Amino acid sequence: MRLVALGAGESGVGAAILAKKEGYDVFVSDAGTISEKYRTLLTQHDIPFEDGGHTESLVLNADEIVKSPGIPEDAPMVKAVREKGIPIVSEIEFAARYTDAKMICITGSNGKTTTTSWIFHIMKKAGTDVGLAGNIGRSLALQVAEDPHACYVIELSSFQLDDMFDFRADIAVLLNITPDHLDRYNFELQNYVDSKMRITRNQRPSDSFIYWQNDDHVPEELHRHPIGGTPSPFSDAPEDGSKGFIQDGVMRLSAPAEFEMPVADISLIGRHNLRNAMAAAMACLAAGVPASIVREGLADFPGVPHRLEKVCTVGGAFFINDSKATNVDACRVALEAVAAPVILILGGKDKGNDYSAIMDLVKEKCKALVFLGADNSKLQAVFKDCGLPICDTDSISRCVFACCALSRPGDTVLLSPCCASFDLFNGMAERGNLFKEWAHRMKQIADA
Ligand code: ADP
Repeated sequence: MRLVALGAGESGVGAAILAKKEGYDVFVSDAGTISEKYRTLLTQHDIPFEDGGHTESLVLNADEIVKSPGIPEDAPMVKAVREKGIPIVSEIEFAARYTDAKMICITGSNGKTTTTSWIFHIMKKAGTDVGLAGNIGRSLALQVAEDPHACYVIELSSFQLDDMFDFRADIAVLLNITPDHLDRYNFELQNYVDSKMRITRNQRPSDSFIYWQNDDHVPEELHRHPIGGTPSPFSDAPEDGSKGFIQDGVMRLSAPAEFEMPVADISLIGRHNLRNAMAAAMACLAAGVPASIVREGLADFPGVPHRLEKVCTVGGAFFINDSKATNVDACRVALEAVAAPVILILGGKDKGNDYSAIMDLVKEKCKALVFLGADNSKLQAVFKDCGLPICDTDSISRCVFACCALSRPGDTVLLSPCCASFDLFNGMAERGNLFKEWAHRMKQIADA
């Protein structure tokens, strides 16, 4: 049997290593440049590879292809593979054939990384032999090959789900569906929705399907897709059929086990994070974690960097890093979550943003705006009449100085910029890390 991995990233290299271990004739082909780390791994495992292009004769003689989720269907080599009728599977589908581990899978348009990390945090605390895989952590295939666990918590994107067929999640979590990546789905929302619903495939009554009942799409999709798992819907407030909700400041779950916890004890702020917390609690209870440990894990989860991350207080003002907020909606949920008065940092590479979705919230909760970008002219034009003081900056140090000058004890300084970071930084993580670094420096000065 010959297996070819298209794309030599975390998933392709992991799949190749597992396939080799299982006795396949393996080849790895990447149209770009393979990084040093993966080149070394492939060489160490004696796996042949090529990069800088695909050689048809070495790819089209495969019995099966594992395709990296980043490669679109219209890539010429993928089209050639489809024309020849060679089956394409995702690395997760392939890896799952070689393990009996319990699979806890999380998908959704937003909140995947937070919820996946939260479940992993609680499972670890419970002493479970657990691995973190999918979009975060090491590939599932590599772990199955070299560091197997009894249970995996897996973040799944729609692209991974597209190439999954026989895979079965013991516990499936579907957080929400909002339009995203439509360029990969023929600009048809239904195609993207169908992709997300694939997380329920092959589930049996003893499996759990946890989903957010207030989503615009998921409830009506239940009639169109056979749901084999036992549904556990949760909602923001008490509702018909809901097995989990918030009532009078308390999270109340009735399935898969009775569970109650005051919202004030949950470590992350924001309504969206309460949904993530409910999903995480339900998934862990379904996996058999005792309620006392779920409660502890909901209370002490430190969160994921760059997502409403508490940084420090500078002169009594709370600095919060939400650099991951690269669109207007992410900024809106952040603004809803934090306490007023807010000094809001906006700016970066604008992707055609419509700021009207946050204008009222900005007027209601902000006391000043600080722009951080190479070109802030659009922000200037949009916010010039909002009645707030505005400070224009083009570097992180000037931005943080300005925030310190504008803030008073009790204020919130929120970096939730609505924009990509590539005008001034190498990605949102660099922007967030520099923001934290400068906030800590200013804190030292303020505390001295
Ligand atoms: P993903 O991995 O799906 O991108 P993250 O956990 O990294 O999700 O969160 C990214 C952003 O999505 C957060 O900064 C927040 O603005 C938003 N978000 C997180 N959870 C939710 C949720 N349950 N519903 C809506 N938006 C959310």
